[in-house]
Amino acid sequence: SNICKVAVIGSGNWGSVASKLIASNTLTLSSFHDEVRMWVFEETLPSGEKLTDVINRTNENVKYLPGIKLGKNVVADPDLENAVKDANMLVFVTPHQFMEGICKRISGKIKANAEAISLVKGMEVKMEGPCMISTLISQQLDINCSVLMGANIANEIAVEKFSEATVGYRLNKDVAERWVRLFSTPYFIVTAVQDVEGVELCGTLKNVVALAAGFVDGLEMGNNTKAAIMRLGLREMKAFSKLLFPSVKDSTFFESCGVADLITTCLGGRNRKVAEAFAKNGGKRSFDELEAEMLQGQKLQGVSTAREVYEVLTHRGWLELFPLFSTVHEISTGRLPPSAIVEYSEHLPRSS
Ligand code: NAD
Ligand code: 13P
Repeated sequence: SNICKVAVIGSGNWGSVASKLIASNTLTLSSFHDEVRMWVFEETLPSGEKLTDVINRTNENVKYLPGIKLGKNVVADPDLENAVKDANMLVFVTPHQFMEGICKRISGKIKANAEAISLVKGMEVKMEGPCMISTLISQQLDINCSVLMGANIANEIAVEKFSEATVGYRLNKDVAERWVRLFSTPYFIVTAVQDVEGVELCGTLKNVVALAAGFVDGLEMGNNTKAAIMRLGLREMKAFSKLLFPSVKDSTFFESCGVADLITTCLGGRNRKVAEAFAKNGGKRSFDELEAEMLQGQKLQGVSTAREVYEVLTHRGWLELFPLFSTVHEISTGRLPPSAIVEYSEHLPRSS
């Protein structure tokens, strides 16, 4: 039959909200099978119960999205291969550091005609150079992969506050429209653009700028400084994206995935929050320690992304073109103090 079966690979804070959005649509749209299989990285809760059992009993992800009903048609599955085997629409939404291992485990074990979409913000850096997560999925699984990014702080969408998002697709507009139908609700407005790399790099790179914004907050430097950091960050996001992929479109930076995600993450994201605490402590407590203490199992993407971007900049001889990106990495590794976030700007070229 032509009815699409959806699997969601990941069940963290955003993964759970994505499952809720999708499940509300698969119930009402006849072109999708009602059930949404959600792969859960299994863990045992303090009560002794398995997380999957609690999700399936209560319909809530009590650890990563407490208090929100996901929909009765969301089925939590701790078995990755089983969760993906019948699906022809695969939604990837885990912290980016786990994606390579996940792809290896399901390679050759999915439907040949499956379509994928990545909600993962981040990239991998290999010997050959940077590899976007959508490319990793495409290459390892031999399937097409779109992306969905946007100004989407998960906890706000969970309580159905209005927001927008951007689907980036490669060639096939019909596939993009199917993803738009799967995710869209009256409070979640999705627009498709033909620019996978641009959309994905926006979502990935804004996490580095968010750390810079958090440092500024921790040092109590005020709104003008933070806005300056966001402007400089956006400029580096655009320059880096276009150097890596000349096909990236200027217009993508004005979609939800671009300037809007940058703003919301610098105002209310987890990267910002932990970077603020890091700067308040004068860089004396590590990001790993602060993440574990402040986020209850949720993961930051910005610190590893800053390192990955730094590796690319070093290999390509681009370090001095990207003073904000490189300074964020040097602060997060302790090589520079948090206050360096504004000192670096003296070395910037004065042009816009
Ligand atoms: P999260 O930050 O809540 O991460 C925790 C998840 O990682 C849990 O599901 C946990 O089980 C899983 N995990 C831990 N160890 C693992 C392992 N070894 N292997 C596999 N999984 C493991 O996750 P999230 O918020 O769903 O974020 C996923 C992606 O979505 C990230 O790239 C993030 O940047 C992006 N994103 C997040 C938000 C948000 O507001 N949370 C919004 C937009 C995009
Ligand atoms: P944080 O991971 O910094 O919370 O950002 C969430 C996000 O990507 C919002 O779109």
